Amino acid sequence: MLNKPLIFDAHLDLAMNALEWNRDLRWTVDEIRMSEKSLTDKPDRANGTVSLPSMRDGHIGVCVATQIGRYVKRGNNIPGWKSPEQAWAQTQGQLAWYKTMEDEGEMKQIRTSEDLDKHVLLWENPDKNTPVGYILSLEGADSIISMRHLEKAFEYGLRAIGPAHYGPGTYAQGTDSIGGVGKKGHDLLKEMERFGIILDATHLCDESFREALDIYHGPVWASHNNCRAFVAHNRQFSDDQITELAGRDAVIGIALDAWMMVPGWIRGKSNPESMGVSLKLMINNIDHICQLTGNSLHAGIGSDLDGAFGTEQCPYDLDTISDLQKLPGMLSEIGYSASDIHNILSYNWIRFLRKNLPSG
Ligand SMILES: [Zn+2]
Repeated sequence: MLNKPLIFDAHLDLAMNALEWNRDLRWTVDEIRMSEKSLTDKPDRANGTVSLPSMRDGHIGVCVATQIGRYVKRGNNIPGWKSPEQAWAQTQGQLAWYKTMEDEGEMKQIRTSEDLDKHVLLWENPDKNTPVGYILSLEGADSIISMRHLEKAFEYGLRAIGPAHYGPGTYAQGTDSIGGVGKKGHDLLKEMERFGIILDATHLCDESFREALDIYHGPVWASHNNCRAFVAHNRQFSDDQITELAGRDAVIGIALDAWMMVPGWIRGKSNPESMGVSLKLMINNIDHICQLTGNSLHAGIGSDLDGAFGTEQCPYDLDTISDLQKLPGMLSEIGYSASDIHNILSYNWIRFLRKNLPSG
């Protein structure tokens, strides 16, 4: 246990799993799976890979954890709430869950660079009860009803926002959609800049990506985004986008959703073994970013392992999130040095946040 390095996972939807999947994340992964044997309401029932004990076991001691509430306009068939007000209320329930986990000593919110330093120190000597630290992020900004709500969110500790998710959004256009950020997106980005809220470039369609990066001058990262070089899809970053992000000092988290790792994945049909989906493909994405940028400063982990998929749609050599501990050995095998590995496992995110979180 003592020899495992700290891992920073920049994208988990923990509260969504607690409240929409009805998973008590204090249970072990096996206990959660057992409890779901007869359920069929979600594609990943009985296949989950994430819980707080499994994070602790794998020394995933700090993560970026989301609030997520999508608003879908009348006539659109994508799943989501019928109004921004409902979506906001959903995210407030998620916040309440994180706070309850804090009261239980299971998690610890990180709002400032001092909080981060303290937490990283705590994980130098963890035990089985050491809380999992989290930086609060919002995936898709549709739930931000007004700029007053943005201010409120900053006050309760929201530190990063991905303006869009799947499809068209209020503030930007997301995956599988087209178009720019519009006036509302412009205003949101400027307010985010004023508060120093990190822009998460993940899920932005190419045009919104272009506009958002031009309008917004604050810190940018991409919490969970793979490379278009391997899977040619608008959800992935082109080499030009990766180079531009690196120029903005961004870190890009590599995700473990099978369809983003191998071309031709068919949801509900393909399986990880026959498609050759293994952690090696994650390493390939990490290595691609490192080769493109000429260093190990811009690649990290943003597993998304609880993003509505489980073992049916993730690398076959990963059973629970604690298996992220296989990565250091795999990186070492292809010639990465100890300091490169440290950067990729945790330090790139830590360095970024030290610089960009508010102080005190
Ligand atoms: Zn996502």
